[in-house]
Amino acid sequence: MPDRVLAVLTAPAAGGEADEPYRFVDPAVPLVSAVDLGVTRGDGVFETLGVGEGRAQAVDAHLARLTRSAAMLDLPAPDEEAWRSAVSAVADQLSGHVEAFVKLVYTRGVEGTGQPTGWVLGSPSPDHTVARTEGVRVTVLDRGLSHDSAGNLPWLLQGAKTLSYALNMAAGREARRRGVDDALFVSSDGFLLEGPTSNLLIKDGDRLITPSTSLGILAGTTQAAAFRFASGQGMSTSYEVLPRDVLESADAVWLLSSVRNAAPIREIDGVERRIDVGFTAALNAYLLARRE
Ligand code: PLP
Repeated sequence: MPDRVLAVLTAPAAGGEADEPYRFVDPAVPLVSAVDLGVTRGDGVFETLGVGEGRAQAVDAHLARLTRSAAMLDLPAPDEEAWRSAVSAVADQLSGHVEAFVKLVYTRGVEGTGQPTGWVLGSPSPDHTVARTEGVRVTVLDRGLSHDSAGNLPWLLQGAKTLSYALNMAAGREARRRGVDDALFVSSDGFLLEGPTSNLLIKDGDRLITPSTSLGILAGTTQAAAFRFASGQGMSTSYEVLPRDVLESADAVWLLSSVRNAAPIREIDGVERRIDVGFTAALNAYLLARRE
């Protein structure tokens, strides 16, 4: 049962010529050129998706977002069918693992060639049981932009899943420096946004609410699945612009992301809060069972 599986896209952009859409390569062998713009500039986009018993989850949603992110960076449109077949082949190799993940990386390519680079890497998932059942402690961090900045500042690429994730990683380290598990961004004028690698979900009675993507946050695939689950339970769902103090009045809150799924928030900046054990378990069971 392989622990790491790597497939390189032969022609990752739409319109490219290739006999085979991908080829498997040894993940231990160096792959990327030292002058690939993905490496030298963080100039590219990526996706991470969950794999359950060899079946990749929410593939359509992730490929659609890869294409949207690429368009925001003026990258050539990815060849979604080539990516889909590589994702499926890599996921299939991981069928011996109950939970795994695949990461799709699409860069602007080697400087001067105009040819994007693309690969799909699969690995078994770390064990997220503690985060899913006992919850996570978070600290609130100011992202430094007002809640209405996204439309006016498109060059900041808010809402695109780019390879320039150093800020997101730094926010995670800041959280750990403060002795907690994760961070939650707010706008400079006090509106709830997202985590560095997750979306925020709020339960208020029989309503599920998440911050609106008009705030320049990523449109989450896990969040979309959570809304489908809630609708199936007869709950209402909505995207809203929410001031930070909503966290105090909400019945329960979660961070949602592919692979970790729903992590209930049990403490915010030192203030403990209730977690909804039953709803969390049902939601995670639904998210884990996805095989589409
Ligand atoms: N927001 C950000 C900034 C992310 O990086 C991620 C995932 O990595 C998410 C939200 C959650 O997205 P998804 O549920 O599609 O994994």
